[in-house]
Amino acid sequence: MMPDTDRSGATGGCLCGAVRFEVQAEPMWIAHCHCHSCRHNTGSAVATFIGYRMDDVRWAKGERTFFESSPGVKRGFCATCGTPMSYEGDRAPGETHLYISTMDEPDKFPPRNHVFFEEKIAWFDTDDDAPRYPRSGDAGDLPVNQ
Ligand SMILES: [Zn+2]
Ligand SMILES: [Zn+2]
Repeated sequence: MMPDTDRSGATGGCLCGAVRFEVQAEPMWIAHCHCHSCRHNTGSAVATFIGYRMDDVRWAKGERTFFESSPGVKRGFCATCGTPMSYEGDRAPGETHLYISTMDEPDKFPPRNHVFFEEKIAWFDTDDDAPRYPRSGDAGDLPVNQ
């Protein structure tokens, strides 16, 4: 049996089960995104992503439907039940970002940082010490809490 700390593989899918994925790799990163676009897309206070190389994600069952939320940004979802499934965009070429609560075992993948913290809903925060980046967390974007 795999120990709980083994993050080298994962499975998951949408709420109705029509769309399923399998990953056989470690995540590249795991982060809470507080940007308005991700929050609006999910209807939630925060969108928590787990990032993989696109080649490491196999869509095992069904097909995603895509919505281009801004030029070059493809948001995949299940057309049957509406569950957001993936984010793929020109800003992160070759990456597929999955949503943490579509994972079968989200407990194994604790987020490591917060991005677009400056767009956070005023009343929302989480109880952790993970770095909080005002924007993307790229070079030069220093966390506000460290
Ligand atoms: Zn579905
Ligand atoms: Zn976002």
